Amino acid sequence: MQYISTRGQAPSLDFEGVLMAGLARDGGLYVPEHWPAMTPGQIADLAGQSYSRVAAAIMQPFVEGAVPASDMAALVDKAYGRFTHPAVAPLVQLDDNVWLLELFHGPTLAFKDLAMQVLGLLMDRSLRRMGRRATILAATSGDTGAAAVEAFKGREAIDLFVLFPDGRISAAQRRQMTTAGAGNVHPVALRGTFDDCQGIVKALFNDHAFRDAFQLSAVNSINWARIMAQAVYYFTAAVALGAPHRRVSFSVPTGNFGDIFAGYVALRMGLPVERLIIATNANDILARTLATGRYEPRPVVATASPSMDIQVSSNFERLLFEASSRDSGRVRTLMDEFAVHGSFTLAEPELAGMRNVFAATRVDEAETREALATLYRNSRYMADPHTGVGLAAAAKLKGNSSVPMIVLATAHPAKFPDAVEDATGALPEKPERLHTALSGQEDFSVIEAEPDAVRRFIAERSRLNLANPTL
Ligand SMILES: *Cc1c(COP(=O)(O)O)cnc(C)c1O
Repeated sequence: MQYISTRGQAPSLDFEGVLMAGLARDGGLYVPEHWPAMTPGQIADLAGQSYSRVAAAIMQPFVEGAVPASDMAALVDKAYGRFTHPAVAPLVQLDDNVWLLELFHGPTLAFKDLAMQVLGLLMDRSLRRMGRRATILAATSGDTGAAAVEAFKGREAIDLFVLFPDGRISAAQRRQMTTAGAGNVHPVALRGTFDDCQGIVKALFNDHAFRDAFQLSAVNSINWARIMAQAVYYFTAAVALGAPHRRVSFSVPTGNFGDIFAGYVALRMGLPVERLIIATNANDILARTLATGRYEPRPVVATASPSMDIQVSSNFERLLFEASSRDSGRVRTLMDEFAVHGSFTLAEPELAGMRNVFAATRVDEAETREALATLYRNSRYMADPHTGVGLAAAAKLKGNSSVPMIVLATAHPAKFPDAVEDATGALPEKPERLHTALSGQEDFSVIEAEPDAVRRFIAERSRLNLANPTL
């Protein structure tokens, strides 16, 4: 499979190229040059297979030419062997036709593990084959950093640096990143905000000499391999509820638009999806865009679902590319307009195309709390606040449709005990894994939120530098 940039001015790359590149050189995002198609018969054959088998089948066309099927099968077995539920992503029935898809049985108790575990193994495999090393640099406000630490700790070819804002994430989130006890993992608390962390990551990626010397690589949700791995659970869930013979809908707690775009990928591959609901918290840029056609960020507000406190949804560009019938010139025009004016407006056919598949709604804090409280009252089930946003959005938009509605449960409630207790009056039980992280020995550095300070820090610790003393 070859990959092309949404902005049409970067070279096309094979899978290993996009795996390591992250962002395209023209500022665009990589997408497959065509969508691999699954026939209804092939989808029906997924029924009753293990999660790993389905994962290998769904991902194989995307890695074709770069990773042989036997390697891919072994790799996903290893990745999903670390999950504590035998089904990996089990469905829980809540109502006649409302279901929760539990995506929090991985090492860090949030859905990001499902893709990050695969990404870690794929990157390590490619680098070792090429005899190369890489430095992964990530800014995190919580879940991504923890998932990356668990995916990359102990990997021979990779050094990981995660930057987080000192004192501005929860102790549990920090401990999940700082108790790994692996020499190749470097958690760094910056004396600044999350925006400072992100700004420094951008600055170092734009410093091409530094970027090349340390072979910087990115693992945020613009990395295609993450999207590809997330498409898998849309298949397992839909097939468990009767696809391809029955259509299903999904409600997806959305921030950067990565997870829900994976649902769109599943649809384009042939999965009969009726509707994809974009569930946003008070940071509702996508709900406003679907309503008015105008994409215009507002200042970020803090909510009880912090992993969705995002106003610029990077992966939305991938949908723009599809909605404009893959017109990279049109994507460039819109993104230039965005860079200059801070907003853009979709054309009527583009908006109509999106509304054919997607619906969107904003869920405020009181509605989220109410969704968690009602669920707990009716079925003693505790959901986390991100999942609460998805539940409330599903309730608002479901109508009296008989199509099964699958709400993605993106984090374990024990990761957000305060919000859960506030809504339900009870505290979620901590899984064993969280206990381990909470009681482990912490190890991290605190440095100034300055690009030069981070540059020096990486240069001192990267094993790449040791291998190349002239740097
Ligand atoms: C990252 C995250 C989301 C948002 O996912 P996107 O792919 O950014 O839309 C939702 N819930 C939780 C718990 C997350 O960690």
